[in-house]
Amino acid sequence: MSGISDRSIIVTGGASGIGEAAARLFAANGARVTIADVSTGAGEELARELTGKGLTAQFVTADVTDEEQVAAMVAAAEEAYGRLDGAFNNAGVPNHGKDLADLTRAEFDRVFAINVTGPFLCMKHEIPALLRAGGGSIVNTASVGSFIYIPKAAEYTASKHALAGLTKAAAAEYGEHGIRVNAIGPSTSKTPMYMEYLKLNPAYEETVAATHALRRGSEPVEQAEAAMWLLSDAASYVTGVTLAVDGGYTLY
Ligand code: NAD
Repeated sequence: MSGISDRSIIVTGGASGIGEAAARLFAANGARVTIADVSTGAGEELARELTGKGLTAQFVTADVTDEEQVAAMVAAAEEAYGRLDGAFNNAGVPNHGKDLADLTRAEFDRVFAINVTGPFLCMKHEIPALLRAGGGSIVNTASVGSFIYIPKAAEYTASKHALAGLTKAAAAEYGEHGIRVNAIGPSTSKTPMYMEYLKLNPAYEETVAATHALRRGSEPVEQAEAAMWLLSDAASYVTGVTLAVDGGYTLY
């Protein structure tokens, strides 16, 4: 098995894209998955599909910017599965496709609320649960925007740099308590978010092949595989890292 069998793991943003691929992959590898999302219909349907296949999953509606809902999400995982062993804090939103001076304050604040405050609130409530379980592993979804500038995405680039910093801070503070905290840094992954980005930046698709050493974008499951490795004991000596899962995008 993969090393996450029987683990109780939360996946935020689990109703779509990378989170959906992760919920499917983790459940298929024997984890007991709590799928959390604001998208209730799609999330409930996914949980139904997984449990219908004999896998273990539940859905909880949770907006990661709402602390009460985040606390309830963690409580639901502990209630259903008796403990929390890991979390994939993956919910996030893209940029608005504008240069910095054209961004409104509200646009900037929204991206920070979901991409930075969200994972902060998740970790704030997950860490005590992981401590109750005797340790565990957290993986946040950062981005290549944690390392370099993403075109017309000042607010997104800044939010993902901040998330890499938050990941380091949590890793430093809770390593001695048996909690590892890492992030994945995807580049292009063929999810609904990417399709939304393409609508704003149609020329980007043509540049993907030219800018990635592997000459293609990733399938969402390739991101989920990296997250599963970081969540598992196979990565037992890895903490504080934002792992580029980018097909070589940041080489150039
Ligand atoms: P997606 O839009 O397919 O999925 C994101 C999910 O998050 C959706 O189900 C959405 O409902 C949920 N969500 C949004 N706001 C939420 C909130 N406040 N609370 C709870 N759930 C919320 O997008 P994706 O491409 O799968 O993105 C997942 C993560 O990957 C994001 O953090 C994104 O920044 C990151 N990422 C994606 C790419 C890419 O190319 N797709 C590249 C780099 C990083």
